[in-house]
Amino acid sequence: MTRVVVVGGGIAGVSVAAELAIDAEVTLLEAEAALAHHTTGRSAAMYLPGYGNEVVRALTRASRADHDALAAEAGTPILTPRATMWVAGPDEVDGLDALAAENDVVRRIDGADVLARCPVLRADRVAGGVVDDGGSEIDVGVLHQAYVRRLSAAGGTIERGARVTSVARTSRGWTVGAGDRTWTADVLVDAAGAWADAVAGLAGLHPIGLQPLRRTLFTSPVATDVAPGPLVVDVHERWYFRIDAGIALISPADETPSPPCDARPEEIDVARALEAVDAITTLGLRSVRSAWAGLRTFAPDRSPVAGPAPEDPTFVWSAGQGGYGIQMAPALARSVAGLVRTGTLPADVAAAGLTPADLSPARLLPGF
Ligand SMILES: Cc1cc2nc3c(=O)[nH]c(=O)nc-3n(C[C@H](O)[C@H](O)[C@H](O)COP(=O)(O)OP(=O)(O)OC[C@H]3O[C@@H](n4cnc5c(N)ncnc54)[C@H](O)[C@@H]3O)c2cc1C
Repeated sequence: MTRVVVVGGGIAGVSVAAELAIDAEVTLLEAEAALAHHTTGRSAAMYLPGYGNEVVRALTRASRADHDALAAEAGTPILTPRATMWVAGPDEVDGLDALAAENDVVRRIDGADVLARCPVLRADRVAGGVVDDGGSEIDVGVLHQAYVRRLSAAGGTIERGARVTSVARTSRGWTVGAGDRTWTADVLVDAAGAWADAVAGLAGLHPIGLQPLRRTLFTSPVATDVAPGPLVVDVHERWYFRIDAGIALISPADETPSPPCDARPEEIDVARALEAVDAITTLGLRSVRSAWAGLRTFAPDRSPVAGPAPEDPTFVWSAGQGGYGIQMAPALARSVAGLVRTGTLPADVAAAGLTPADLSPARLLPGF
């Protein structure tokens, strides 16, 4: 049986490990004491079929059936419908038209419709919107745990507190070291999120130019009689918010370059978004209850990087999930598994128009 080591216990790592464990002996190594401690545990948890570039959208739509199947296995929903609404003031409606023109799942709506959907917006600040009614909230904990259960059921092993610090190519595969422990593998999967280039570096391979970008989220109390509503996004994505019982979840939609690290929110980013959302709503936002940040890690073309490294096909990438790594995880994991087994994509992903080249790290490594 093929022995696989997967580095990283976020959503990318557990999903690809579970897929590969169907017919391989899989060990997942996670640096932290808990899985999903980094970006996966810090997201806005949205499934937006119209978000991201064409590759991302195809993978997101191809993931829909997997989300439903995993929910059935877990016995609890993973996706709960929640619309997304981009809004603009009177001077910025051109941006709405552009958004609607480039995206086939969204619909242009007028100012009255925007206010009907989100009555806390100020009528004089909102001239129209674009809405995506196909979106959902994701229960990230249930999704992640469903993959952990699949991995365990298939005989896979998870090692927490195992920070990989050495990766050596041998004549028989890979030797992976974490502290004083080592594992051997025929195939090594790099699902290390913001650290994926660093892990490739340990293996002596080229970095693909991943850039972690910090994004902040925080909560602010609102009156308990404010009804939950859609995810409301500024047309130029300078902030977004959504209301749940007694709480507004707000982001400055920041994209601040960062080295791989345990990301922390900056006060200035929180203050900027609090002010912007307070100005466009009647919420009367006064305080911040909790704030956090995570790293959305992008390849230069903002598509995920999945499949064998051109320098060594036994080193497999699953990286560059950017701001879409939860919603597209299922189809991306099945794609990585298909590329490892046969060099091809699953039939539904291929039927969506994607080819291995769209995902391959080779597209980012001139000369390969
Ligand atoms: C504020 C915010 C909002 C977001 N909103 C959404 C959203 O609404 N919808 C959506 O789909 N996505 C969203 N995202 C993006 C999504 O969270 C990420 O794309 C996804 O979580 C990336 O998963 P990952 O497994 O690649 O990375 P991570 O979750 O960071 O996992 C990587 C893991 O690798 C481990 N690791 C690193 N180096 C080593 C090593 N040397 N040895 C062992 N382990 C190692 C790390 O400890 C970490 O646990 C959002 C992100 C942020 C920050």
